[in-house]
Amino acid sequence: MRRKTLLFLIVFILSFIPSVVFSAPTDIINDPNQMEALIPKVKATLAKDFGIFIRIPVKCYLVKGEELDKVYSGTYRGAEVGLHQYRNGRHEIYIMKGMSEDSFEATLAHELTHAWQVERCVPEQDKVVREGFARWIEYKYLDLIGAYVLANSVKRDADPVYGVGFKKMLELEDKVGAKNMLDKVKNIVSINDIK
Ligand SMILES: [Zn+2]
Repeated sequence: MRRKTLLFLIVFILSFIPSVVFSAPTDIINDPNQMEALIPKVKATLAKDFGIFIRIPVKCYLVKGEELDKVYSGTYRGAEVGLHQYRNGRHEIYIMKGMSEDSFEATLAHELTHAWQVERCVPEQDKVVREGFARWIEYKYLDLIGAYVLANSVKRDADPVYGVGFKKMLELEDKVGAKNMLDKVKNIVSINDIK
């Protein structure tokens, strides 16, 4: 009787193993706590690997697509999955729920780059320069964390603002080198200034 009970217990426990092994921890960012856990990593990587430091406080929000549309006040509508605005003396970053961890981190890196631009770049800088450089950071970030498929999709972007701006940044990188990008980009007003 006791052996039978033990056997039953073993079978019972074994029946749970597949669900434990195959339902790996979720990689989809839907919860603000998951977001909060990733923010320090992305900020630290931007500082250490790219020299991007943000001095003004940043508040991040995880939102659904329709909420992101409501917050968005710009005139240009790309395929936004994130948004940055500087308001009331602080940076506000909105990121769409439901992204993979890699996509989330890269989007946050992109939006934090906009925060850096507010703090450090010439204010009259045009949208193509700003989005192009944020895409360039996003691309470099994805490459750094080994998300090569996502990095490649940045390269294939043909959008007239994001894609064109990004390609100009690759040209600039070829000329000045990755390490000098921040110093150069800070003072560029128009994308046409990149010859
Ligand atoms: Zn952007």
